[in-house]
Amino acid sequence: MRALYIAMQAEAQGLLETLQATLLPNQPIIGSYYQAADLLIATSGKDRILGVDCIGTEPAALIANDLISNQGVTRILNAGTCGAHSSLGAEIADAYLISPTIFSHDHRIPLPSFEQFGLGAHPTPDSIPALAKELDLPTAILSTGNSLDHTTRDLEIFLANRARLKDMEGSALAWVCRQHHIPLTCLKVVTDIFDLPHPAAAQFAANLAQAAKQLTQETLRLLNHR
Ligand code: SAH
Repeated sequence: MRALYIAMQAEAQGLLETLQATLLPNQPIIGSYYQAADLLIATSGKDRILGVDCIGTEPAALIANDLISNQGVTRILNAGTCGAHSSLGAEIADAYLISPTIFSHDHRIPLPSFEQFGLGAHPTPDSIPALAKELDLPTAILSTGNSLDHTTRDLEIFLANRARLKDMEGSALAWVCRQHHIPLTCLKVVTDIFDLPHPAAAQFAANLAQAAKQLTQETLRLLNHR
C-alpha cells in the first residue's frame, strides 16, 4: 500500500478535499491519518499541548515508522513545501522531485563514522530521474534541518553537499524508509528563497497559499501517474 506524508494541514487541505479523504476512525497520538480509496494520507497532526502542526523530523520519523511497521505501507510519497537556494533560480510555487540524494545540514557529529550517520546522504530511488522526465519536473538535492532559518554553518554544509532545496522532514523520512528498504519519492514546492535578506518565515507566510495550490495539483499528477 502507498502512503502520502504531508507535514502541514494547510499543505494537505486541498488534496484531502479533492480526494474526498476521510479521517480514519482509529487515530494515532502523533499524526493524523486519512484514507482516500487505496491511499493512506498522513499529516503530522497537532501537537497535543500547543495545538500546532507537528512539523520537523521527530514526528515525520515516528509516523513513517508507524506507517511501515503497523499500517502495511510499502511505499511512501512525501509532498511538501520547501525553501530554495537563490542559485537554483527557482520561482515561488515551482515544483521539484528530489534526486539523487537527501542530506541533513544540522546533524553535525564530528566523530569517526558518526559524521556520515548525521549527514544522511540518503540516496533516492533510481527511478526518479525517469519519473521526473515523464512528469516534466526538474530534480534537485534536498537538505533537511529542524530550523526554518539557518546558521552560517548550516549553509556551508548545505552548499558543500550541492543541495538546493531545504525542508524540515525529508531526511527523517528518508532515514526511516532506508532502514526498512522502502522507496521514498519526495515532491517539493518552493515557498521561499531562503538565503535572501527577506526572512524565510515572512516569505513562507506570504506564499503558502499559492504554493499549497500548486502542491495539490502536482501531487495529483504524481498520484495519477503510477
Ligand atoms: N511559521 C510557519 C511554519 C512553517 S515551517 C507557519 O506559520 O505555520 C515550514 C514547513 O515548510 C516545514 O514543514 C518545512 O518542511 C517547509 N519549509 C518551507 N520553507 C522552508 C525553509 N526555508 N526551510 C525549512 N523548511 C521549510
